[in-house]
Amino acid sequence: MKLVLLGAPGSGKGTQSQLLIKNQGMIQFSTGDLLRKAVSEKTELGLKAKDIMDEGHLVPDDLVIGLIREKLKGVSADQGVIFDGFPRTLPQAEALEGLLKEFHFSLNKAVYIKVPQQELIKRLAGRRSCSECGAAYHLHYNPPKKEGICDRCGSHDLIQRRDDTPEVIQERFETYERQTFPLIEFYQTRGLLAEIDGTAEPEDTYQLLLRSIGLGSEAFHSS
Ligand code: AMP
Repeated sequence: MKLVLLGAPGSGKGTQSQLLIKNQGMIQFSTGDLLRKAVSEKTELGLKAKDIMDEGHLVPDDLVIGLIREKLKGVSADQGVIFDGFPRTLPQAEALEGLLKEFHFSLNKAVYIKVPQQELIKRLAGRRSCSECGAAYHLHYNPPKKEGICDRCGSHDLIQRRDDTPEVIQERFETYERQTFPLIEFYQTRGLLAEIDGTAEPEDTYQLLLRSIGLGSEAFHSS
C-alpha cells in the first residue's frame, strides 16, 4: 500500500500516520519532519530550508523531491508507505508519479482529511512539543499532567513550533490554498482520491481512514 495523505496544516496527517505505523506496520515519509531534522542538524539542506519554513512558505520542489527519492531507495514493493506532507505542489505530485513508476510502485490512494479552518487554527495554536525528547502535546486536547512539564522526560521546556505562531499559521494556510489544494483535483481525475471528515476524535477518524483505503474497520489499540 502506497498512500498519500492530503490536508491543510493541522488536519491530523501526522496523527493518522502514527496510527497507521502502529497498527498497520506502515512507514511514514514526512517531508516536514525530514526538513526539521535537517534544520536542527544544520545540514546544507537545513540551512537552505530554515528561513523559508519559518515564514510558512514552501521549500523548493527539487529539494523535497530529492529527499523522497533517497527514501524510496530503501523501500520494497510490499512495504506500506505513507507520504505525509508530500506532495504539496503539482510539480511534486507529477514527480511522485514518475518516482513511483521508476521504482515499480503504484499509488493506491490519496486521502484528503477535511477539517474547517477555524478548527485548524485552534489545533495549530495549541500544539507544543518537548525540546528534549520530542513528546507532542496540545494545550487543550492533550495537555501534560503537570503544566509546562514533559510527562515523558520531566523537561520544563515545552516549546511551540516556530511556524505555529498566528502570523505564520495564516501564511501557511494561504500557501496551502494556493499551491496544495489543487492536488485534490489532480488525484480526483486519476480516480485515486478519497475524502474523509477529520473533525472527529483521532481514533474515529482513523476508522474512516481505514475504510477509505479498503482496510475496513479495525479494533483500535490504545496501548
Ligand atoms: P509540515 O510539518 O508538513 O507542516 O511542514 C512544515 C514546513 O516544511 C512547511 O510549512 C514547509 O515550509 C516545509 N515543507 C514540508 N513539506 C514540504 C513539501 N512537500 N514541499 C515544500 N515544503 C515543504
